[in-house]
Amino acid sequence: MSQVKRVYTFGNKQAEGNGKMRELLGGKGANLAEMNLIGMPVPPGFTITTEVCTEYYKLGKDQVVELLKPEVEKAVKYVEEIMGVKFGNNEDPLLLSVRSGSRASMPGMMDTILNLGLNDEAVAGIAKKSGNERFAWDSYRRFVQMYGDVVLGMKPASKEEEDPFEVIIHTLKEEKGVHNDTDLTTEDLKDLVKRFKAAVKEVTGHDFPTSPWEQLWGAVCSVFDSWMNERAILYRQLNKIPEEWGTAVNVQAMVFGNMGETSATGVCFSRDSSTGENLFNGEYLVNAQGEDVVAGIRTPQEITIIGSQRWAERKGMSEAERKATFPSLEEVMPAAYKELFDIQKKMDTYFKDMQDMEFTIQDGKLWMLQTRAGKRTGAAMVKIAMDMLREGLITEEEAILRVEPNKLDELLHPVFDKAAIKSAKTISRGLPASPGAATGQIVFFADDAEAWANQGKETILVRIETSPEDLKGMNVANGILTARGGMTSHAAVVARGMGKCCVSGASNLKIDYKARTLEIDGKVYNEGDFISLNGTTGEVYEGKVATQKPELSGDFGEIMKLADKYAKMLVRTNADTPHDAKVAREFGAQGIGLCRTEHMFFEGDRIKSVREMILANDEAGRRKALAKLLPIQREDFEGLFEVMAGLAVTVRLLDPPLHEFVPHEEKQQREMAAELGITFEEVREKVHSLAEVNPMLGHRGCRLGNTYPEITEMQARAIIEAALNLKKKGVDAAKVEIMVPLVGNVKELEYQKDIIETTIAKVFEEYGDTVEYTIGTMIEVPRAAVTADEIAKVAQFFSFGTNDLTQMTLGFSRDDIGKFLPEYLKRGILKVDPFEVLDQDGVGQLVKGAVAKGRSTRENLKCGICGEHGGEPSSVEFCHFAGLNYVSCSPYRVPIARLAAAQAAIKESKMK
Ligand code: ADP
Ligand code: MG
Ligand code: MG
Repeated sequence: MSQVKRVYTFGNKQAEGNGKMRELLGGKGANLAEMNLIGMPVPPGFTITTEVCTEYYKLGKDQVVELLKPEVEKAVKYVEEIMGVKFGNNEDPLLLSVRSGSRASMPGMMDTILNLGLNDEAVAGIAKKSGNERFAWDSYRRFVQMYGDVVLGMKPASKEEEDPFEVIIHTLKEEKGVHNDTDLTTEDLKDLVKRFKAAVKEVTGHDFPTSPWEQLWGAVCSVFDSWMNERAILYRQLNKIPEEWGTAVNVQAMVFGNMGETSATGVCFSRDSSTGENLFNGEYLVNAQGEDVVAGIRTPQEITIIGSQRWAERKGMSEAERKATFPSLEEVMPAAYKELFDIQKKMDTYFKDMQDMEFTIQDGKLWMLQTRAGKRTGAAMVKIAMDMLREGLITEEEAILRVEPNKLDELLHPVFDKAAIKSAKTISRGLPASPGAATGQIVFFADDAEAWANQGKETILVRIETSPEDLKGMNVANGILTARGGMTSHAAVVARGMGKCCVSGASNLKIDYKARTLEIDGKVYNEGDFISLNGTTGEVYEGKVATQKPELSGDFGEIMKLADKYAKMLVRTNADTPHDAKVAREFGAQGIGLCRTEHMFFEGDRIKSVREMILANDEAGRRKALAKLLPIQREDFEGLFEVMAGLAVTVRLLDPPLHEFVPHEEKQQREMAAELGITFEEVREKVHSLAEVNPMLGHRGCRLGNTYPEITEMQARAIIEAALNLKKKGVDAAKVEIMVPLVGNVKELEYQKDIIETTIAKVFEEYGDTVEYTIGTMIEVPRAAVTADEIAKVAQFFSFGTNDLTQMTLGFSRDDIGKFLPEYLKRGILKVDPFEVLDQDGVGQLVKGAVAKGRSTRENLKCGICGEHGGEPSSVEFCHFAGLNYVSCSPYRVPIARLAAAQAAIKESKMK
């Protein structure tokens, strides 16, 4: 059996792994290796592979530890040699950090353990060696707390309960009359360690482990365990990360940012992750360790002078006050800053992407602890891609591939109305943590945000600070407002990732979770009151503030132009009204792929004529009602065809079961009866007779037109007359495609086609003029897909109606899937909702097969998709490879589909 390599070392500008090995080493591990290879100062360490995580869940703890032991022991020796100190030696011990790292970054998911290897003897050794006793005990205190929380499970599962260690710290501070952690003396810290250990003993029944090796294995296993914690599972679900990926574990020599005033720790970005501006920025804290910067306990300071000045300006702070109280790293540690500046520049250029980096300065010496492509807003994503293209760092294709289609969504949504914002009352100001505009009702708990969202309410989640437990609530809220935390706080990072508006660190908020109130400058706001957030400026307004349409020019316009240059498929839209069609054209739609004629039926008084037609007892009665509908439909089509000048418009004939149109309540039935001059009982009887057991499989689609041909006649006439009328007026109009729904048997289509053609021939004769048109069908019944070669002999085009096709292929009712989908997702029977993401292995194969079969009998058969999937990036990619000519989606998804289509084409050309 060949030897599996489970551990990869890095250090001293060498590494066994490299940046390309994300899958095996996780993102963090791969980049730690790569940073070494490009000569960055990185503390040495090693990465245990993601494959071991999978082994861990297969074989269990004990067996995996046995398997790992030889390689880990060897790797620890490697680190000891570089550092010149020994793990487990009490005089001069090597201390380690144990860090998780999966392929995709999962912020806040798995807690890092720092200062591992400490015990009562080692702490004395560290104190003596460093000559800094307070530092030694600060590190020890942190270690016992982190290890206790994460590995020994002291951290309470519920948010309501406080962390027992924090309670102890709080008590001690009260006893001593101390406010800040930094004011705790060495003796206080010693006292804390003692109390912490006692708490551990009391809760777990065991002594805190003193053996460094026992500590190490405990920490490693706990990283693997955390892969399956609830938060991690939720994050994976939200971000569609498969469970099989597993997490790697990084073990690394510690460097210390908590050694005093010449030490610091921080987070920085090579470009602005909110706006995309090419400006180095970040935050740091002097004499701090680990995640102090993002924890929101102390207010972090800006790294650069310019950032610091901008920050002070927003706070209304004078330059003198800023310099005295919140100076930048550039001012405080100019040498380390200079090195950091050069490194970030080098990394930005080397990785050809905006980098999010973590660093620590130990006694003036800079160490890099992490780099990754930074999370960013949609606006920043587009700007950075276009900037890097202009800077010559990346190619057009790379720029397109950089843009995550779904994230464009953020750029398409409203910003505050300029007039409304002028009269809005600003009640607070925080940091512009994640841009956009949001209005909603105040809620204080993530659970409430969820519950309220389920009732259709729009909310703003207001919290002192957020943590991973709040993910679900953040996901459904319109915006997030926090009292504490900087630009790199949990709330800020997660909100930017979600594309959600967020204002963080609005320090004048007084939040009372118990009373469910928010007090600002003496005024009390209750749960349920409306507020508005401007994530672009950091302002908080009272009440609702109106919003307006976004800008679609600039870098956004340019990236879309590039996308169209590379895409092979066209992107059309699903639109039923001239208004929607106009919006879609602004978003770059190149036609209408689906106009649902019945949507026009519900407007104004029309529904009455529709009901009259449905309730009629015979053909004559139906024709009478249809005659009233004809001019209305014709006018609708004229409006639509005019907006879509020069482009194709696919009009679908009447599709839904008639039962959907009739009145179901007695009051309306009585009105209808009076209208029609028949009895209420007659109406009730007719409505009753239309009810079906399985309406989606019932009397609908072309089955309507084939049983009531006069409906098809009227619609065909309305469509063609509209086109002819526009032609008469000299208006440049759309190209008409008439689409027959729900065909499963070629005869159904033949019959409809015959009616349509006969009607049109009549209209042409009446007008003494003609227009071009085509007749095609939806492919949405599995039988149609299977017999596509026969159907293509009659149909001039196919449009895959993947909503119904999914419904009928999987046998899942779209309206009832909610009953079992959550369970199916949880068990992994389904990975995603098949109505959202095309089921490529099932439904997708029917699509692919039908395209091939269809083109076997009609070579130039035009094929498109008009189901919900037409705007979902992975499905769009599938459509490209299936050889479709276009996808059609809702107006707001058009830019997303354009980009996804371009990316698919680029991927294909790369494969060649
Ligand atoms: P996350 O994935 O949550 O960012 P990390 O593994 O990056 O977690 O660890 C969090 C923080 O802990 C780092 O940003 C860094 O400040 C600190 N840290 C991790 N490893 C070390 C180390 N070897 N020396 C000093 N600090 C470290
Ligand atoms: Mg973390
Ligand atoms: Mg990190």
